[in-house]
Amino acid sequence: MDNKVNAVKLLVTGGAGYIGSHTVASLLTNGHDVTILDDLSNSTASSIRGIEQVSGRSPHLVVGDIRDGECLDRILRGGDFGGVLHFAGLKAVGESVRHPARYYSVNVGGSIELLAAMRRHNVRRLVFSSSATVYDTEAEMPLQESSPSGHPGHAYGRSKQMVEQILTDEVGSDPSLAVAVLRYFNPVGAHPEAALGEAPTGTPNNLVPYIAQVAAGIRPYLEVYGGDYPTPDGTGMRDYVHVMDLARGHVLALDFLCAHGGLHKWNLGAGRAYSVLEVVKAFELARGQQIPYRITGRRPGDAASYWADVGKAARELRWTPQYTLEDMVRHAWAWQQVLARRV
Ligand code: NAD
Ligand code: UDP
Repeated sequence: MDNKVNAVKLLVTGGAGYIGSHTVASLLTNGHDVTILDDLSNSTASSIRGIEQVSGRSPHLVVGDIRDGECLDRILRGGDFGGVLHFAGLKAVGESVRHPARYYSVNVGGSIELLAAMRRHNVRRLVFSSSATVYDTEAEMPLQESSPSGHPGHAYGRSKQMVEQILTDEVGSDPSLAVAVLRYFNPVGAHPEAALGEAPTGTPNNLVPYIAQVAAGIRPYLEVYGGDYPTPDGTGMRDYVHVMDLARGHVLALDFLCAHGGLHKWNLGAGRAYSVLEVVKAFELARGQQIPYRITGRRPGDAASYWADVGKAARELRWTPQYTLEDMVRHAWAWQQVLARRV
């Protein structure tokens, strides 16, 4: 259940996207007022209709680029913004290898522009979308917020590490700034009413959207990347977390920042890992039909297995994930059917 907190006027960058849209719906349900800044490069305005459908309220949408300081000024000039939730960014690992400068420009440059605008308009709370990609996945499991950072082999991961470092330095130089860094593990699933979800363009990079397209008959089979990992069934293991649980984590993190200053880092994951074949089996149960798959070679750069310790979020935010793997795949499948009807 969502908790009622004092209403705050918020800017949500990337709020039309997958995780942002679920979070905006949750913020509106909790009484906050939301302005979304999104350039719609990886989303459409249809997610605003989904937000309205599930929350019964409307966010204000500004279509623009987070790197555009004048656009940020026009939004923040209105005054009394109580905080920013910063989702906007590029997130495809492979694309970041091909176009590193673009990734640094949007993810790092965009965050710097945003911080500068927040400073100009005295907005002092920020919730940032980071990722488990910042960790050394060879470290001892489960990964804690204090676990060693890794050396991601791609610009996407490095851009997240850089922004985390910039935020640490900013809070160090200006204690009036309060920052929550949320490190998501593997976000999956969709809104239980199937009004919001992930709408990948082209071939999905991630496991669950790919399985959903196989289940829908759009793709013939799933390629399972590696069957020889040192895991119980030989396939890679990840910590999948429902996007609705993530959304609630943001509301609680914002609430925490309203009560405390400083810089805080929290893992948001389920606190356990499932193998690729376990996810396939769960999907088969939800779909009531077999998902064809073939085990192929490992995907370069993939780790065998990692998962989160979510004790810090449980203790400090009172956040524990409420949705199961079965919920995640059932909701992903229901959303896939909505997407199929849209085409
Ligand atoms: P998404 O692509 O669905 O959402 C990002 C939104 O940002 C999109 O609506 C896009 O149009 C917008 N955007 C991109 N560039 C922009 C720009 N220059 N100016 C304004 N808007 C811009 O992605 P998501 O899955 O919702 O991810 C949200 C955040 O969470 C990202 O920062 C991502 O790196 C991070 N994250 C995602 C995952 C994941 O697996 N989905 C995991 C860890 C972290
Ligand atoms: N995976 C797979 N086939 C796919 C996509 C992913 O076998 O088409 C595996 C991948 O090797 C990893 C897990 O599924 O073990 C999750 O991958 P995803 O790309 O969703 O997230 P990642 O953990 O890489 O960020």
